[in-house]
Amino acid sequence: MIKLSDDKFSEEQGKVNPGDQARPGTPGTGENICQSCKGSGRLGSAPCPNCGGTGVVTEGIGGA
Ligand SMILES: [Zn+2]
Repeated sequence: MIKLSDDKFSEEQGKVNPGDQARPGTPGTGENICQSCKGSGRLGSAPCPNCGGTGVVTEGIGGA
């Protein structure tokens, strides 16, 4: 059997950032501007940890 690191593998597949409420492409969700970095993708001189430096997060649509 081949031993793979399941954790690392799924992490690369999902690519979900801390600020994401769902995986990209999930029905009922959409991309929103990250509230932490205001869409800049950066906090100070470091990439925003909330959105992973993308400036956007995946959130549910129409919800409170
Ligand atoms: Zn951000």
